[in-house]
Amino acid sequence: MAGKFHRVKCQNCENEQILFDRSSTVVLCSSCGGNLTESTGGVTIIHGEIIETLSDQ
Ligand SMILES: [Zn+2]
Repeated sequence: MAGKFHRVKCQNCENEQILFDRSSTVVLCSSCGGNLTESTGGVTIIHGEIIETLSDQ
């Protein structure tokens, strides 16, 4: 059940930040405060553009 980290570009302001795809909470853009993820029943939906997926250890 290992999740992955993704580098995601915000749709609103093009800020890039790294987030975890199994986060149980909504992740907000650190720059504009927009939602980068939405959590629906354990599945995390990523709204931004995934630039890069980082391998889990
Ligand atoms: Zn943003």
